Amino acid sequence: MEEFKSELGKKQVIPKNRRRNIKETIPPEDWNNWRWQLKHRITSFEEIKKYLDLLPEEEAIDASKNISFRMAITPYYLSLIDMNNPDDPIRMQSIPKIHEALPNAFDMDDPLNEDTDSPVPGLTHRYPDRVLLLITDQCSMYCRHCTRRRKAGETDAPMPSEKINQAIEYIKNNKEVRDVILSGGDPFTLSEERLDEILSHLYQIEHVEIIRIGTRTPVVLPQRINDSLLDILKKYQPIWINTHFNHPQELTPESRLAIAKLVNNGFPVSNQSVLLKGINDHIDVMKELLHKLVKNRVRPYYLYQCDLSKGISHFRTPISKGIEIVESLRGHTSGLCIPTYVVDAPGGGGKIPVNPNYIISMAPNRVVLRNFEGHISVYTEPGYEKQNPKKYTGLCPEAKESNDGIISLIKGDILSIGAHESKRKNRNKK
Ligand SMILES: *Cc1c(COP(=O)(O)O)cnc(C)c1O
Ligand code: SF4
Repeated sequence: MEEFKSELGKKQVIPKNRRRNIKETIPPEDWNNWRWQLKHRITSFEEIKKYLDLLPEEEAIDASKNISFRMAITPYYLSLIDMNNPDDPIRMQSIPKIHEALPNAFDMDDPLNEDTDSPVPGLTHRYPDRVLLLITDQCSMYCRHCTRRRKAGETDAPMPSEKINQAIEYIKNNKEVRDVILSGGDPFTLSEERLDEILSHLYQIEHVEIIRIGTRTPVVLPQRINDSLLDILKKYQPIWINTHFNHPQELTPESRLAIAKLVNNGFPVSNQSVLLKGINDHIDVMKELLHKLVKNRVRPYYLYQCDLSKGISHFRTPISKGIEIVESLRGHTSGLCIPTYVVDAPGGGGKIPVNPNYIISMAPNRVVLRNFEGHISVYTEPGYEKQNPKKYTGLCPEAKESNDGIISLIKGDILSIGAHESKRKNRNKK
């Protein structure tokens, strides 16, 4: 029940059944304006209480004054909450709970070592040919499960331009970078002018072949995908968009329109979900989400195991839950609907794909495989002579050699890699 001060200064109570959805209280021209939405984000529990009753665990964190990660919810995203459902998936992703303040022994500030793998501030260079560039720490809605919560919302503002220039300079000087991923925060919270500037700098770098933009605006602020934004983006093709839907309830007419605009203007859209306890950790819910995405021309890309960031342990599932979900998908539905399930390795190992086991056994020339139904068959391998690398590089003169990591064991004369810091190695040194 909501309380507010009437004109007479007395406290009045609005009964639940007379409470209105926030959307009904706003003129459409404001509602459809992304700047209005961003400016009117809900940032206090007082405000939330105008639209729904708080749950005890939400009241508890409010009372504790211990929210270490900023709260901000676009009116649009808030309007999707079913106020009668305490387990509403939109609610769980946007309204903090006391669980965030409860310590967990395995939680870490920066589980992915993004700050350590950072040659210049805001840029993570972990993989050989691509970099992650954080151009703002502002998001239109702060996801309670955010893995980058140490950074997101820190200032609720774009990165200073000197920092971004430094990162662009780094990319210029590192010719192996052919793919730049803009993230944050949410890059689409920036103004068109600022985006235009950053994109044009990157676009001018000859060795940068593609730009990717990670944004949750199609989900939490679909009004942002407007013509003036698209006009800017169109100048810098090829741009790939990665968004972040976690639940079928997020595919509303508004968000579907935002996707359609992106795809119709030539931007491939893919989706990264996080496996979240109580939200999408169920085979039927996940399948519904994936089907809806593909129906809207969004290609599911990754399904992330929830990271070990501080304050999000209540969202975590066992890894085996994700394997079960993939088992329920592969073969059972279009391959196009199936994301790659990955664990982003704690300590900065990067994304590690994990799958059910489909190879049952192997012998020279014989590989025993099973399918999704439990049908078991053997594939007889051909004889295979040693390859002549020159023949291939002759066919494809632009091909670059890949020699790092496990492939170095396969291609080269190296006998072992890794475990450099092991006790055994140190003993043997002495
Ligand atoms: C996820 C990620 C990438 C991109 O990985 P892809 O598998 O190419 O999508 C790049 N850099 C960092 C630091 C990442 O976390
Ligand atoms: S949009 Fe991305 S960066 Fe922002 S809070 Fe959500 S998960 Fe974190």
